Amino acid sequence: MSVRRVLVLYTGGTIGMAQGPRGWVPAPGLLVRELRRSRAFHVEGQPDLTLPTDIDGLVVRYTVREYPSLLDSANMGPADWVGIANDIAAHDAETDAFVVLHGTDTMAYTASALSFMLEGLSKPVIFTGSQIPFMRVRNDATANLLGALTLASRADIPEVGLYFRDSLLRGNRATKVDASGLDAFASGNLRPLARVGVDVTVDRDLVRPPGTGPVRVVPITQPLVACFRWFPGLTPHTLDAMLQAPLQGVVLQTFGAGNAPDNQPELLGVLRKATDAGLVLTHVTQCLRGTVRDDYAGGRALADAGVIGGLDMTAEAALTKLMWLLSQPHLTRADVRRLFATDLRGELGAPQ
Ligand code: ASP
Repeated sequence: MSVRRVLVLYTGGTIGMAQGPRGWVPAPGLLVRELRRSRAFHVEGQPDLTLPTDIDGLVVRYTVREYPSLLDSANMGPADWVGIANDIAAHDAETDAFVVLHGTDTMAYTASALSFMLEGLSKPVIFTGSQIPFMRVRNDATANLLGALTLASRADIPEVGLYFRDSLLRGNRATKVDASGLDAFASGNLRPLARVGVDVTVDRDLVRPPGTGPVRVVPITQPLVACFRWFPGLTPHTLDAMLQAPLQGVVLQTFGAGNAPDNQPELLGVLRKATDAGLVLTHVTQCLRGTVRDDYAGGRALADAGVIGGLDMTAEAALTKLMWLLSQPHLTRADVRRLFATDLRGELGAPQ
């Protein structure tokens, strides 16, 4: 009998919420109780949570580790990301795969952060959640969790992924694009790693090779990074106010293929001054698809002011990558600038 052990780290989010006096809030214990009662998620009589055996005969046992403080993901930040990464590393030896249940609002940030922090990852880490709570009759939680458990236990994708609706996206390529639709995530610059339809199809050309394991955590300890959209009418004064110490790095989301105004020398002067003061300035596009480049004079002007192009990275990947690079004391500013534009975890560049 072939058995797979999956550890489900349950951090919070709509998936396990119930209605409270002030709206939907995480409800401790509820999700695990519901899973134990559900024939799709548990075989009665088994001590551990066990999925019903499918036609391939594989037995999938899973443990849900519910976090003591279940969070709406709007309340999560770098310290929570490090906590999840440490839990994965602590259980790497006895676990075949991980599923992380997480609120959808900041899921793409956490998945991106983990893709950088988990060095040598050799097992699947699949984020999922839902837009409608599991306890509601009509929900997307059932399909999302079953799909994530299926991929985690069977698909052999040793990456941080994000599963939603019917697609497994690379975590550091995903963005939440819909606040209410069930197809809530998109990966504008990379096709899905896998799709769950009648069959499960994995795009093996995209899946990265496994790390050498056991996984090591290189944590984010330096969150003094900001991310904001450039907008028409941004004044030098406002820009200058946003680029002050103790900030160490900034991700600017520029227009289209990486443009900003080149007809206002004061704006470019503010950027130059910040770069000269040691701030790592970077930029990615505001668009869902495409890459920043320096074809236009506006893009060239940014490069001249010392702003590093992040190619086709999502803002979520760029922000967490910059935090992670700046957290490593042995890296010089020049290293950080170089590595930011280098593919480290499949987060940038066209697929081969
Ligand atoms: N506000 C919720 C969260 O991100 C939304 C969700 O889970 O869908 O935690």
